[in-house]
Amino acid sequence: MISITPSHIIEYLYCPRYIYFQYVLGMPQNEEKYYKAIKGREIHKLKLSENVKYLRKRIGVVDKKLDVFLSYNNLRGIVDEVLFLEDGTAAPLDYKYAVYKDKVFTTYKTQLECYAYLISKNFNINVDKGFIIYVRSKNKLVTVPISKDYVEKVSVVIDEIVTIIDENKFPKATKYKSKCLTCTFKNVCAR
Ligand code: SF4
Repeated sequence: MISITPSHIIEYLYCPRYIYFQYVLGMPQNEEKYYKAIKGREIHKLKLSENVKYLRKRIGVVDKKLDVFLSYNNLRGIVDEVLFLEDGTAAPLDYKYAVYKDKVFTTYKTQLECYAYLISKNFNINVDKGFIIYVRSKNKLVTVPISKDYVEKVSVVIDEIVTIIDENKFPKATKYKSKCLTCTFKNVCAR
């Protein structure tokens, strides 16, 4: 069974051919990753700190699970925190060793949608938001709405990635040609 992580989903959404070149042809991506998850001992300590306990209380957390491995339908991931909220929903919380720049990156949103998918399938509960703590902005807590159709969106991408890898299917190119200019695979892509 093909094992997919949120990074695969992010790569697919950047350009479906990234999946083909890397996981069918085994070509490495030589550029610096645009998606990084920097985790450290400080973040582990932070999860147990009074400051974060206060933040959880502020958003109505009634129960929590830390560092949870979840999998469903080919997708797997480790969620920093699964929070169960007083309104009956659940939410993923992710720590970013980053500075908040007044905007949540699309890659972070996609990652939270993947976690929302895993949480809803494993705990049979609705997820309508996620949270990010920006460690380098004094632990700023940002609420990120999760789109209503996240289960369908993530399912479709999982199926498409499985098809590319299982059937060696050469997928469509990204519709944004500007991405090709700096792409590692531009010489072999024939775009
Ligand atoms: S060259 Fe363009 S279409 Fe081909 S893999 Fe790179 S981004 Fe995708």
